[in-house]
Amino acid sequence: MSKAIYPGSFDPITFGHLDIIKRASVIFEDLTVLVLYNKQKNNSLFSVDNRVNMIKDVLGDMGLSHVRVDTHAGLLIDYARDTGTNVLVRGLRGVSDFDYEMSIAQVNHTQYQALETVFLAASLEHSYLSSTMVREFASYGGDITKFVPQRLVPIIQDRFAGRDS
Ligand code: ADP
Repeated sequence: MSKAIYPGSFDPITFGHLDIIKRASVIFEDLTVLVLYNKQKNNSLFSVDNRVNMIKDVLGDMGLSHVRVDTHAGLLIDYARDTGTNVLVRGLRGVSDFDYEMSIAQVNHTQYQALETVFLAASLEHSYLSSTMVREFASYGGDITKFVPQRLVPIIQDRFAGRDS
């Protein structure tokens, strides 16, 4: 059975990510959403724990509790090797993602031959959406209800209001 991971920063998770997770979960029975972070550089909006909790909550709401959520601070290929993961799922929003994603996939494959990258095309309605855009909109008090699940809206807004989330 294929063991798949869907890695990313998910800072915060968006409808675009969730669409990829839902579709990947149909293809791969054993799927883990992997929150990647850098121990040295911490310029993220949410802590790793907060990101994990938000992802678990929304996956629960979507009936996707069987999709696992994990974290990793080092190289992705090390995580894949240690856990016996053989598929890496990535989303492609368009040509802007392509060059970067292609080179990462090729490097990863060079380093760990057993790992194949599978690209899922972003759904048309989410192809413009990124975590950066959500953070940018929220920082100016913009409406983010079309970008993230309802339960995350106040958490993200509170973050910019300087309160704990
Ligand atoms: P990273 O920090 O590696 O850019 P992200 O959390 O932004 O990771 O994204 C993780 C994965 O999800 C990447 O493969 C990215 O291309 C994909 N992705 C991000 N936003 C969308 C979206 N709106 N639709 C489809 N895939 C997306």
